Amino acid sequence: MDQQPPLVDPFLRAISYLRVSVTDRCDFRCVYCMSENMTFLPKKELLTLEELDRMCSTFVGLGVQKLRITGGEPLVRRDIMTFFRGMTRHLDSGALKELTLTTNGSQLARFADALYDAGVRRVNVSLDTLDAEKFAQITRWGRLAQVLDGIEAAQRAGLRVKLNAVALKGFNESELFDLQTWCAERDMDLTFIEVMPMGDLGNEDRLDQYWSLKDLRARLAERFTLTDLAERSGGPARYVRLEETGQKIGFITPLTHNFCESCNRVRLTCTGELYMCLGQEDMADLRAPLRASPDDGVLRDAIRAAILRKPKGHDFDYSRQAVDGQMTRHMSHTGG
Ligand code: SAM
Ligand code: SF4
Repeated sequence: MDQQPPLVDPFLRAISYLRVSVTDRCDFRCVYCMSENMTFLPKKELLTLEELDRMCSTFVGLGVQKLRITGGEPLVRRDIMTFFRGMTRHLDSGALKELTLTTNGSQLARFADALYDAGVRRVNVSLDTLDAEKFAQITRWGRLAQVLDGIEAAQRAGLRVKLNAVALKGFNESELFDLQTWCAERDMDLTFIEVMPMGDLGNEDRLDQYWSLKDLRARLAERFTLTDLAERSGGPARYVRLEETGQKIGFITPLTHNFCESCNRVRLTCTGELYMCLGQEDMADLRAPLRASPDDGVLRDAIRAAILRKPKGHDFDYSRQAVDGQMTRHMSHTGG
């Protein structure tokens, strides 16, 4: 691969992290993410696996060192392992430092070994509750036992698992310590995500589900000694260590914290739209330049032009108890 100057945005932030949604489809219908009757994109709109490979490889050639594959549910995309195996060559060359994914865990029992063989070493599994009934309620279509089997398979395969739980008032508030203990027993880190005003707020009262992570953190502090960790991911996560268990707990608070100054990431949708900021509507279509020419130079120019439009920060604002800066797209579209 030709050596290219790295991607740097107008605020001198180097772009080293690409999140890629490989499908908008999912085998779950989590209430905060999708409606029950989703209309999915026609297949021809999606980037093919070859196009996804070319797209990601071009980003890697421009200095992206970390790829996180997401969706929808990435592991329901047909033949997705072909894509993962394709990315292995960038890990082997040293250009790519990390290949990882965020998954609901439903297909992990099938794919854990193959993911490990492709060079994946860590996975984030989204799980909000350990109660089978509540799990069925929140995911609508999910089965807890299947996810727990998936997590076990992933750990057996040698993958490091981190749990991501959306903090939901009146839903998993009561399970805070159960989740924390369950993870500690399995040597798993745990990150809480504040619920975001994504998708259509009309039929799900997401503001009513809002559980502030400040409050969650205060509750943890009643039982544990919390040490703030300096570690930053260039994203909206902050970490603490629970001294009594050694466990790392993360807090993703995109609404209440300003993390934009260190933002190192962009997001690609399954149709090839590049979102330069999770909280803003502006995006660049990369599918057209990708399909326009077999010459990667055209695509590279389009990527560089897009990065020059990366905004300084996002517009979310819950402060007046109204949903300002509300986004109309679903998390399953931009990949969370
Ligand atoms: N299907 C995979 C999964 O669930 O992990 C990957 C895609 S999912 C959109 C990525 C993450 O976004 C999940 O951890 C999910 O809980 C989170 N998410 C979805 N909708 C959200 C919302 N409205 N607010 C906060 N997090 C959300
Ligand atoms: Fe599917 Fe993940 Fe959205 Fe749940 S959060 S509906 S598992 S994409």
